[in-house]
Amino acid sequence: MSDLRFKSVEEASSRKPVEVKLPNESVEKYYAKQVFNRQKMFEYLPQSTYQALVDAIDNKKPLSLSLADSVAEGMKRWAIDNGARHYTHWFHPLTGGTAEKHDSFIDHNGEGGVVSEFTGKLLVQQEPDASSFPNGGIRNTFEARGYSAWDISSPAFIINDTLCIPTVFISYTGESLDYKTPLLKALNSVDKAATRVARYFDKNVNHVKSYLGWEQEYFLVDEALYAARPDLVMTGRTLMGHESAKNQQLEDHYFGSIPMRVAAFMLDLETECHKLGIPAKTRHNEVAPNQFELAPIFEEANLANDHNQLLMSLMAEVARKHNFRVLLHEKPFAGINGSGKHNNWSLGTDTGVLLFAPGKTPEQNLQFITFVANVMAAVHKHNALMKASIMTATNAHRLGANEAPPAIISMFLGSQLSQILDSVEATEEDAVINLNGKGKVNLDIAQIPELMIDNTDRNRTSPFAFTGNRFEYRAVGSSANCASALIALNAVVADQLNQFADKVDARVAAGEQLNQAIFKEMRQLVIDSKAIHFDGNGYSDEWKKEAERRGLDVESSAPLMYDAYTRPESLEMFRRTGVLTPKEVEARNEVKWEMYSKKVQIESRVLGDLAINHIIPAATRYQSLLLDNVYKIKELFKGEKMEKIASHDLEAIEQMADYIAAIRKGVDDMVDKRHKANRMPDERSKAIAYHDDIVPAMEEIRKNIDALELMVDNEIWPLPKYRELLFIR
Ligand code: ADP
Ligand code: MG
Repeated sequence: MSDLRFKSVEEASSRKPVEVKLPNESVEKYYAKQVFNRQKMFEYLPQSTYQALVDAIDNKKPLSLSLADSVAEGMKRWAIDNGARHYTHWFHPLTGGTAEKHDSFIDHNGEGGVVSEFTGKLLVQQEPDASSFPNGGIRNTFEARGYSAWDISSPAFIINDTLCIPTVFISYTGESLDYKTPLLKALNSVDKAATRVARYFDKNVNHVKSYLGWEQEYFLVDEALYAARPDLVMTGRTLMGHESAKNQQLEDHYFGSIPMRVAAFMLDLETECHKLGIPAKTRHNEVAPNQFELAPIFEEANLANDHNQLLMSLMAEVARKHNFRVLLHEKPFAGINGSGKHNNWSLGTDTGVLLFAPGKTPEQNLQFITFVANVMAAVHKHNALMKASIMTATNAHRLGANEAPPAIISMFLGSQLSQILDSVEATEEDAVINLNGKGKVNLDIAQIPELMIDNTDRNRTSPFAFTGNRFEYRAVGSSANCASALIALNAVVADQLNQFADKVDARVAAGEQLNQAIFKEMRQLVIDSKAIHFDGNGYSDEWKKEAERRGLDVESSAPLMYDAYTRPESLEMFRRTGVLTPKEVEARNEVKWEMYSKKVQIESRVLGDLAINHIIPAATRYQSLLLDNVYKIKELFKGEKMEKIASHDLEAIEQMADYIAAIRKGVDDMVDKRHKANRMPDERSKAIAYHDDIVPAMEEIRKNIDALELMVDNEIWPLPKYRELLFIR
C-alpha cells in the first residue's frame, strides 16, 4: 500500500545534481539574447521605423498600421534567425498566470508551398477565443468577444520556438479582462500626479516612473515525492501532514549553504533568466526548510511585473529538468513559514531622483517627506483596499500565520523617519521661513543624513515597510500577479497626490508662498494618517486590538475583504484616476469570489478523497493488526496479566476508532456544507459560505488525520511525511 511512498523517498534521496550546460560566452554577451530589445530593433528595423517605434515607446504614442507592418517584418526576421517558428500574444488573464495561443508563421504562398508571414495587424491586435477566461459577467453583459493588443512598453521575447508578444486583454466594449490594462492605467495615473507634485520642486521633471523590485520566495520538492502526494499535485499545498520533529526551529536553513541539487537548479534558472533579460541578482535559502528566494535588480514596474510572470513559468520548467517541482503556493506546509513576494516599490523622476530617498538640501528633503506623507495618507485611507488587493484563497493561509504579515495593513517607518515626522508635527505651521523666495524649512528636515537607511532598523513583521529609498509591500503572495497590488498602490497614491496638489494650488492661488503651502498640507497629512504608522511587533495579539482601536481594517475573511473594492470611496478613487470603471471593479470582484470558492472547493474534494481512500484504509489496516495482536494476547495470557498486556493496544484501537469516526463524520459534514454553499444564489455568498463553513471543516478533518499519522505504523502510512518532503539532500 505504501510502496509508492517508500519508492519515492528512495528515488528522491539517491538523486545527484543535474549538470548545468552554461553558454560558452560571458553573461554580457548572452544577456537578453532572446529579447527584441532596442539593440535588436536597431539591427533589424529600417532606420525610420526604429526611430518612430522608440519615439512611440518613450512618449506613449499609438502605432500606425504601416509602422506596425514594418516593425512586424523586422521582428519576424529576428525571431526566425533565433529559432522561432511560432508567435503568440502573451497576456495575464484574471485566473492568474499567463495565457498564450501559438500560431505558426506559415501562410500559403499561392504555389502550393508556404512563406513565413507576420503582419502589423497580427502583431498589434488579435482575437483569442477567450470565452473561457473569467470575466465576471462583463462579456455576458456587453459583448462576447475580447481582443489582445500589443503593449509596446514591454519588449517581445522568444521562449523555446515561440515569439511572445506582451499584450493587454480587453473586451470589445473596452473593459479590461486582465491585470496589465489597469496596471498600465495606474502607472500612467501615478506618473501624472507625481509629476505634478515633483514639479513644485523641479520644473525639469516631465515624467515619474514607478519601479518594482520583487523578491520571489518558493519551495522545492523532489518530483517523485510530489507525485506521491495527490494534494500537492492538485492544490499546490499539503492538506495534511504532521509537523516534522525538526523544521525551522534551529534557524539553520536561512542563508545556509545551498544544497548542491538546488544550486544547480538556481544556476540553470538564472542563466535562462539572463537570456530573457530578467536581471536575476540574488539567491539564497529562506527561513523554512526547502524554501528559497530569487530577486532581480529592480526595473520599471510594468516590465518588472512581466518578468515576474515569466519567471514563474520559467521556474516550473527549469525545475523539472532538475527533478524538482516548484511550489509557489503561499503556505504549502503547515507549521513553517509560508512564501511571499516582497514588492519593493518606488517612484523616480526622469531627472534621476528617487522620490522616497532623502536628499542633501532642505528642499530635497521637503520633497522626500512630502512624498512619504502622501504615501502614508493614501495607504491609511485605503488600507482595507490595499489588503483586498493582495488577498486570495491561497494567501489567506499565510497572512496571520507563522512569521507572516498579519491581516492588517500598517506602515513601518523606522526610528529615524519617525523622528522626522514627529518633528514635522511638532513644528508650528508658521515656522517655515521664506528665504530668497525659495523657502527654507527650519527643522530637522535640513539635517537628514544622506544615508538614513539603517539596515538593523528592519521590522520583518510589517506588511508595508519603508526601507531606505523605497517601500516594501511584503503582504503580496508568492503566487500572485504583482499587478493586483501595484494597481491598488499606484492608484491610491496617484489619487492622494492629486488631492494634495489641488490643495497646495488653492493655497498658492490665495497668495501663500509655495513651500509654506506644501509644508502645511504635508504636516496635516502626517497628523491625519498617524494611525497607519506602526513600528512595533505586527504579530502580537495586542497589535490586533490596537489596530482595531485605531480604526484600521482588521477583517480576516478573504471574501469579505473584497467588499473594500466596491465601497463608494474606492469606486470614486478608481474612477478619478481612470484606472477601473465601477463596472470593471464589480466584474473583477465576481471573479475573485468565484476563484476563491473554486480553490477551496477543489481542496475540499481532494481532502475528502484522501481521507476516505488513503487515510482511513491505512488506519483501519493498522487497527486490524492491533486487533489480531489482542486476540493472540488473549490466547496466551489470562486475567490481570492479559488485561495489562493488551491494554495499550486496546486503547490505541479505541483512540483510532474515534479519529476514524471523526474523519468520516467530518467528511460527510463537509460535503453537505459544500452542497449548501453551491446552492448559494451569488458568487459573494458562495465564497462566504466556503470561507465560513468549509475551511473550518477542512481544518477539523486535518487535525484528526495528523493525529492518526502519529499513531499508525510508519510502514503503512501512504503519503510521504513532512520529514521526507522537506529536507532535500
Ligand atoms: P532585502 O534585504 O529586503 O532582501 P535587497 O537589498 O535584496 O533587500 O533588495 C530587494 C529588492 O529591492 C531587489 O529586487 C532590489 O532591486 C529592489 N530595490 C532596491 N532599490 C529599489 C528601489 N529604489 N525601488 C524598487 N526596488 C528597489
Ligand atoms: Mg526584502
